[in-house]
Amino acid sequence: MSQSQDDVPDFQAFDQLSAERREQWLEQLFTLLRQESISHDGTGMDTCAVMVQQLLEQAGLQTRIFDEGQYPIVYGELIRDQQLPTVLFYGHYDVMPPDPLEEWHSDPFAPEIRNGKIYARGAGDNKGQFLAHIIAIQSCLELHGQLPINVKILIEGEEETGSRSLPIFVEQHRDLLQADLVYTSDGPQHVSGAPVVLLGVRGALAIKLTSHGAQWDNHSGNKGNIVPNPIWSLVHLLDSMRSRDGKILVDGFFDDVRAVSDAEAEALRQLPFELDDLARQVGYAALDMDGESYYRRLTMEPTLNIHGIHSGSTGKGIIPAKAEAYIDVRLVPDQHPQQVYDKLARHVQQHAPDIIIEQVMSVPPSRTPVDLDIIQTVIQTVTEAYPLAPVIQPGMGGTLPNYVWTDILKAPSVIVPYAPYDEANHSPNENTGVDDFLYGIRCTYHLLHRLAADTARTAV
Ligand SMILES: [Zn+2]
Repeated sequence: MSQSQDDVPDFQAFDQLSAERREQWLEQLFTLLRQESISHDGTGMDTCAVMVQQLLEQAGLQTRIFDEGQYPIVYGELIRDQQLPTVLFYGHYDVMPPDPLEEWHSDPFAPEIRNGKIYARGAGDNKGQFLAHIIAIQSCLELHGQLPINVKILIEGEEETGSRSLPIFVEQHRDLLQADLVYTSDGPQHVSGAPVVLLGVRGALAIKLTSHGAQWDNHSGNKGNIVPNPIWSLVHLLDSMRSRDGKILVDGFFDDVRAVSDAEAEALRQLPFELDDLARQVGYAALDMDGESYYRRLTMEPTLNIHGIHSGSTGKGIIPAKAEAYIDVRLVPDQHPQQVYDKLARHVQQHAPDIIIEQVMSVPPSRTPVDLDIIQTVIQTVTEAYPLAPVIQPGMGGTLPNYVWTDILKAPSVIVPYAPYDEANHSPNENTGVDDFLYGIRCTYHLLHRLAADTARTAV
């Protein structure tokens, strides 16, 4: 077959195969989408895991099912040569419950194409995305007889319920999963239709503060000035945590925050930003910032946010017995949830020793440097595979358990979504575009060759 100048096969052979196989690939996706796999209540989970295993087998991978957590983890690999680079693909076969059913225009488990879009629960999140990897591997074997690199693929069934078994599994199977790159396709692309290369997520730490007064609510007249009010102690504590101009006053809170590299700062400056759009999105007109500071604050800096305060009554004259505050901290590399919790606990101990602090949940942050060679290869792959140039995001504001790859497996991790921005994941009428699905296959197919070619070049 023809080769482009730098030893990466061009897209001709693949595009021809794609045109021939289109209906067959769509039918493979439809079969998978017809199979329910709802991790919230267990519907169809085991059957779907076996179906995914069969897809991997048919693609030519060696497979195993691990039954160590709540739902099976399906694993496949094809190791050609230990000297070659290895990519680990990650995805999930469980889907969100489809309710409210009456808002769907077609049965969530009877996929249907309307206006170039495939409607079904799991079309975007995540069956239509991980299946793209499987079909790309199969296509590569069909066109070339062998893969240019080693591939591993892990498809789990607990993502929609919090991936609780995943960190334990990765910890216990580090050797099996060892890879030069972890590649995840999940979530939506940019609203402009451009592909996205995402390199990091913020972590999260949720805490609860409880302030106690008397054993029960007391009359604010009959017992006013006699019984302490726990709301005042709580308000004073919260006030001590942050200055009026927004500076977080908890000792050592910023100690481990990783500096933003030049390459990351440059990537932030390139990201699309419209102040007016942002103001409309959030429903708050008085915003004033440029794109770089927006993305810096949103993705590279931690937050200390009060997300709820509960106590007392809106109508009764009482001195409440109890007041609670709920705080969430979004963490950035290299903040560690336990260490940040310890600092908050020390602050509470110093300022309001009677107030009880508890940890509700935590997920560590994760970020892969944008200037790593292998990430540059991914960016080039996506640039070549798609008609629009990719949006490179060094981080995002929200939280995903990406730390299992960067911290436990110690591998670079990248997210390249294959679903459209309006995939309606978790909502009625979830969908992905037929073209989005086919472009995903194209991108993964190209990635296998790009990783082989670039690694060979740097080794010379
Ligand atoms: Zn989801």
